[in-house]
Amino acid sequence: MQSAGGLCDRLQITEEELQTRRAFLSFSPQDRQNLVEIHDVISSHVDEIIGEFYDHLLQFEELRGILSDPKLVERLKGSQRQYLLSLGRLGDDVEYAEGRLRIGLTHERVGLKQKWYLGAYHKLFELIVQRLVVCYPEDARRLSSLALTLNKAITLDEIFVVETYYHTTMQRLEESLCRLKDAHRQLEELSRQDSLTSVNNRRALMEALVLEFHRSRRYRHQFALLFLDVDHFKEINDRFGHTFGDQVLLHVAQLARGMIRPPDIIGRYGGEEFIIGLVECDQDGALQIAERIRLKIAQDQFAWEQHVTAVTVSIGVAMVSTDIDHIETFIARADQAMYQAKRRGRNRVELYNEESASKAPPK
Ligand code: GH3
Ligand code: MG
Ligand code: MG
Repeated sequence: MQSAGGLCDRLQITEEELQTRRAFLSFSPQDRQNLVEIHDVISSHVDEIIGEFYDHLLQFEELRGILSDPKLVERLKGSQRQYLLSLGRLGDDVEYAEGRLRIGLTHERVGLKQKWYLGAYHKLFELIVQRLVVCYPEDARRLSSLALTLNKAITLDEIFVVETYYHTTMQRLEESLCRLKDAHRQLEELSRQDSLTSVNNRRALMEALVLEFHRSRRYRHQFALLFLDVDHFKEINDRFGHTFGDQVLLHVAQLARGMIRPPDIIGRYGGEEFIIGLVECDQDGALQIAERIRLKIAQDQFAWEQHVTAVTVSIGVAMVSTDIDHIETFIARADQAMYQAKRRGRNRVELYNEESASKAPPK
C-alpha cells in the first residue's frame, strides 16, 4: 500500500510548492482572518452540515451503493468532521497535504469516481455558505469576502483530489505497461521459434547467424554454414498430404538439431530449407557433420500414421572467409553448394567452390 508520505514525495509537494499554490490563489492575510471566523461557524454547525451532506449523497443510487455499509458511513462521517474542523489550516504544511492525499486515495480505492468527489466539495461549499448567510444576514460585503476565502480553501483541496486520482491512474497504467512488457517479452520469445519445428524462425536464425558471422571474422575463427534442403519434398506432399509433409519437416529438424552442439545455430530458412551454423568448426569437421546428418536422415524410414517413406536431403557447405562481406553472400554460397548436390543426384553433401557458383539450379 502506498504511504501518504510517499505520495507527497512522488507528487513533489513540498512546503515551497504549497506556498506557490496559495500565492496563485491570491491568499492574503485577510483570508487567514476570515478562516478563523469560518472555522467558528463550521464548529458550531458541524453535525448539521454532515447530516445534510449525507442526506444529499444518499439521493443518488451509485453513491447509495458505495455507502451501503453503516460502519463505513460512520467512519467517513468521523473523518469528514475532522476535515471540516481542520479546514482553516488551508494546506499550510506537507503533513496536511499528505492527509488530504491519503483520504483521496481511500475514496479512490472504495470506487468513488472523481466526478462525485469533486461535486461533493461544491455541496459542502454550499452548506457552509448557507450557515455564513445566517450569521451575516445584513453584511453582503463581509459575506462575499468569507465566501471567497472558503472557495480558495476548498479549491486547494480539490487540486489534491485531482492529483490523487491522476496519480493512481498513472500508477495503474505503469503496472499495466509492466505486464504488457512481460507479455511482449514472452511473445518475442515465442516469435523467435518456428511454430512447426520449434527451431529458430528465419528472423531469429538471421540474427544469430549475423552475430556469429561478424564474431568469426573479427577473431578469425572458423565458421561453417550448412544449407539443407529436403529432396523431392513436393512429391512427398503430393503423395501423402500436406500434414504428412509437415511431420517430415519436424522429423528432419529434430534429427538435425540432435546432431549439433549447443553453441551451434539451427533455423528454418524457408519451406523445406534449414540452415545450420557450425561455430568454430573447420571444413573437414563441417563436411563430416553434414554427411552424418545426411546419412542419419536417409537411413531412417519415416513413418507417420499409415504412411511410410524414405526422406533424403541435399546439403551444401560453405566456409567463412575474408572475401565474404555479407551474411547473404555466405548463405548464397551454401545455397549454391546445395544446388550442386541436387545437380549431382540429391541425397549428397557438396562443398562450395567456383564451379558450384557458376551453375544454374537443377530442374
Ligand atoms: P528438390 O528436391 O529440388 O528440392 O524438390 P522439392 O520438391 O523439394 O522442391 P520444391 O521447391 O519444388 O518444393 C518445395 C515444396 O515444399 C513446395 C511447397 O509446397 C512445400 N512446402 C513449403 N513449406 C511447407 C510446409 O510448411 N509444409 C509442407 N507440408 N510443405 C511445405
Ligand atoms: Mg527448396
Ligand atoms: Mg526441396
